[in-house]
Amino acid sequence: MNAALPESPLRRFWSWISKPPDEILADAARDGELMVARLRVFVTVFLTVSPVIGLLLDRDPTENWIGLGVALTFIVVALVLAAVVNRTPYSAQVSMISAITDVSLVSLGLLAFWLVGRPLVTSNSRVLFECYFLAIGASALRYDARVTVVAGLAAIIEHLGLSWLVAATAPAKALSRDAPAYGDFSWTSQVSRALILVSMTFVALELVRRAQRLRRLSTGDRLTGLFNRAYAEEYLTNEVLRTSRSDSALLIGMLDVDHFKLFNDTHGHAAGDAALKHVASALRSKVRRSDLIARYGGEEFLIVLPGTGTASGLEKLEEIRVHIALQEFTLPRGGREKLTVSIGAASWHDDGKTVDELLDVADARLYAAKNAGRNRVVGP
Ligand code: GH3
Ligand code: MG
Ligand code: MG
Repeated sequence: MNAALPESPLRRFWSWISKPPDEILADAARDGELMVARLRVFVTVFLTVSPVIGLLLDRDPTENWIGLGVALTFIVVALVLAAVVNRTPYSAQVSMISAITDVSLVSLGLLAFWLVGRPLVTSNSRVLFECYFLAIGASALRYDARVTVVAGLAAIIEHLGLSWLVAATAPAKALSRDAPAYGDFSWTSQVSRALILVSMTFVALELVRRAQRLRRLSTGDRLTGLFNRAYAEEYLTNEVLRTSRSDSALLIGMLDVDHFKLFNDTHGHAAGDAALKHVASALRSKVRRSDLIARYGGEEFLIVLPGTGTASGLEKLEEIRVHIALQEFTLPRGGREKLTVSIGAASWHDDGKTVDELLDVADARLYAAKNAGRNRVVGP
């Protein structure tokens, strides 16, 4: 094997699919996934209405029992998916599986008609086919282009597969049964339907792109790519609520770059910006995905460590301080520099029970760290 060979498109596609989600979008994506999970349960429950009425009126018992069985299976699938999403943080892979499930539920519904000897309803269905649009459209609520691509591909492949199944297997007698209401089977119209699914996928991808852009503008910091202050405060409010409900622990750290004005005056504003990016990436490398780091002000950063007690939290902040103090970074005009930071920490609930109280205490300790000579962590 030659290592210099270009990566195959399939491999590139796979590494794109398996990348972790963008953290700025992950919580919005999870909201979308939860919303879809609820909608799915609602729609599947709604699917039982028609067969139940059919059975009560004693029409087509076989078809209605099949319909009811299929609907009840869908409800179980929907409930399992809802339970999984409720318990896990956002995962693009879970969302892709859930989007494929939505598309496949539509295909299974269409397949059910083929199974009961009505292939023309499978290929020419009017209401059920439109549910593919619902599934592709809902995929955009995950703010993740990969989920939409996977949903669109699944819909196109499954639709063409079902068309092939009808074309290859349906006898003329079965086709003629629904012909008055559903027309003929024609590949032209099946391919047109596939092209409409392609168009729908592109529309949904554009929605994802726009939603991502707006989300990044409203919650992110342009320079560092971290969350901004508004988002950090919203997040901290929720975390404090969650911590008090579960009687868990939470530690926050307010970090300020030492003598940053001097750094700017010495090396220029562009070097100052590079330094802020360096601090941001140093922070990123040191915290877990479940922690939050945000640019709180000019050269101030907020670190939120949910579920972390005072002792281990202070250890983590000390590790961050040492890491930044040791790491050199390259200046835009060449040369390498180092920085130090001071951190004030506050822990729920010893230092405060509300966001404002915690931030005040962390700020006061940050000042104490500065007064004590900088390059240190001051905690409870
Ligand atoms: P201390 O150790 O007491 O924190 O001293 P300091 O010089 O860091 O504190 P001070 O608050 O006096 O200065 C903060 C400086 O941060 C002032 C401003 O020039 C700089 N600053 C704030 N935001 C940015 C930014 O986005 N880019 C750059 N390059 N500098 C910034
Ligand atoms: Mg400052
Ligand atoms: Mg400073």
